[in-house]
Amino acid sequence: MQLLDGRKIADELLETLKNEVIELQDKQIYPKLAVILVGDNPASLSYIKQKRKACEKTGIRWEQINYDESITTKELISKIEELNKDKTIHGILVQLPLPQDIYAPEIIKAIDPKKDVDGFTAYNIGKMFLSTEFEHLPPCTPAGVIKMLDYYNINIEGLEATVVGASNIVGKPLSVMLLNRGATVTTCHIKTKDLKAHTLNADLICVAVGKRNLITEDMVKDNVILVDIGVNRKEDGKLCGDADFETISKKASYITPVPGGVGPMTVACLMENTVNAAGRANA
Ligand code: NAP
Repeated sequence: MQLLDGRKIADELLETLKNEVIELQDKQIYPKLAVILVGDNPASLSYIKQKRKACEKTGIRWEQINYDESITTKELISKIEELNKDKTIHGILVQLPLPQDIYAPEIIKAIDPKKDVDGFTAYNIGKMFLSTEFEHLPPCTPAGVIKMLDYYNINIEGLEATVVGASNIVGKPLSVMLLNRGATVTTCHIKTKDLKAHTLNADLICVAVGKRNLITEDMVKDNVILVDIGVNRKEDGKLCGDADFETISKKASYITPVPGGVGPMTVACLMENTVNAAGRANA
């Protein structure tokens, strides 16, 4: 069994991006990410901390805008429109989740697709459907998964791939990216009748649900490639994924650890999107 070491790949990617930032700076382009945080959700604060650290490592400038939960949709959109116009900002990220009174899709819609470094706007998601050539600003988590598989020379073409979870930010776009690379993709969700039938048939399983032990050893075939995107907290406070790592790792050919798998790749891909957005800003 080979561990898919996301931390190592992410560190290497950040190092490459650091050099690309220097090259952009030589051309008087200073990549900058603006991050909007509403409220003080502890998970959001932790994610923002990791993103900020990655910016520091790569030399990407960072601007954080904090709002109280009482902010209105209109006020938030007005701030995004201001950032859209600001030529010194290359990436805009609104940290999710937003408070219940704010309708997230409307906020995402306000972001200029050229600055949509999370890859969540309908424009960037829609473009991805065409082919790999149009994945300019892909959603960071699916992009991180693909990068990880590429790093280990795992050929996606022809694989039976089962994606468990069908959210707009992870499961659905990941399914499309795998399809773009020649996999035969099955996407499972809460209404899937027989999850085990689909996972047992898969050469590659990517699970992004947020339920501990959803995927157990009896649900996977020998030599499966298992990418665990889920993040859950155990009783002892430690993080774990959606799959039973202990038992499946004995059966799998490749498996991601949680933490240290997809998480760091997501952050590194956010940095890559920001550098790419900066490079294309004047193109
Ligand atoms: P989400 O929006 O809640 O989506 C979860 C998906 O799982 C939905 O499509 C849901 O189906 C499906 N689902 C729920 N229960 C299921 C079941 N028993 N069997 C099959 N499918 C089921 O979550 P998300 O934002 O995609 O995130 C998913 C997980 O990945 C979370 O643990 C999150 O923390 C983690 N995550 C990790 C990273 C990273 O960088 N490592 C990044 C993003 C997310 P319905 O739509 O039909 O309800």
